[in-house]
Amino acid sequence: MGNTCANSVSASALRYDLHSHSIRSDGTLTPADLVTRAHAAGIGVLALTDHDVTDGIGEALFTANQLGMSLIAGVEISVTWQGHTVHIVGLNIDTTHVLLQQGLARLRAFREWRAVEIGRRLQKKRIDKAYEGARRLAQGEIVGRMHFARFLMDQGYVRGHQQAFRQFLARGKPGYVPAQWAELSEAVTWIRSAGGRAVVAHPGRYTMKPGELREFFDTFQECGGEAIEVISGSHTAEANRHYALLAQERGFLASVGSDFHGPEKTWMTLGRLPALPDGCIPVWRDWECSGLRTEDSALSPQS
Ligand code: AMP
Ligand code: MN
Ligand code: MN
Ligand code: MN
Repeated sequence: MGNTCANSVSASALRYDLHSHSIRSDGTLTPADLVTRAHAAGIGVLALTDHDVTDGIGEALFTANQLGMSLIAGVEISVTWQGHTVHIVGLNIDTTHVLLQQGLARLRAFREWRAVEIGRRLQKKRIDKAYEGARRLAQGEIVGRMHFARFLMDQGYVRGHQQAFRQFLARGKPGYVPAQWAELSEAVTWIRSAGGRAVVAHPGRYTMKPGELREFFDTFQECGGEAIEVISGSHTAEANRHYALLAQERGFLASVGSDFHGPEKTWMTLGRLPALPDGCIPVWRDWECSGLRTEDSALSPQS
């Protein structure tokens, strides 16, 4: 399958957002509503990249086709690398690929177990029925930490998501459960064998020391990772600039993604990302949906 772009439109006119979430993981909109909102925000190419699941892609593709915009089949894979949790986005994947789906199923099984365990740990802090509350907010889908954060907010334990993570859910806090996610090499292999391109999500958010981060990028590249998110909705302007330079120095393709989770959130908006700095090579460079530039059209067999 590979490229799931629905339309060919002029590349220069398109706005890309290659990182977003729906209720199939920890976003709050249905895939259809997410795509509709992205379209209204002026996005021409959207990737749905739910955490460790691709169940929303079909619905998102259907809506994108109706609206005449392009939808990239994606996923955001949870990885543990040298004790750090990192996220690897896969873009333009074949969602039917068995190796990929087996890997994701393993991660979701861990999520199920972890959710019960988070509830148990919060109970020790006299927070009742957190698992049940988070489960309800997940509306039948996999329960993630974001659902616990929303539960803690709704119940008045905290004022916002950030505080929920700071006080209860982040590493070392009472509700934190150490995780063993996928190996970095596994995640990249799943993505590549499903025909996709592996992208380091929001590199500016990791807490690794500079030496560790360099080693992480080396390993990612050795495994076959090709791209990093240069522009992220969760980056500062300075981080965007830093990772633009890093992508150029290391020969990474550059991606752009809001990490939108829903209209409630303030730090990840749709349709407001800055453009890729000059000198970056877009991760979509050779995608069909980026359309044919006029000079290329003259070379196509039909013309
Ligand atoms: P999980 O994959 O279930 O462990 O949850 C990770 C998700 O929680 C991320 O994808 C974000 O959506 C959210 N998250 C993590 N850290 C924070 C934070 N400090 N503030 C707000 N949301 C966060
Ligand atoms: Mn999330
Ligand atoms: Mn992430
Ligand atoms: Mn994300």
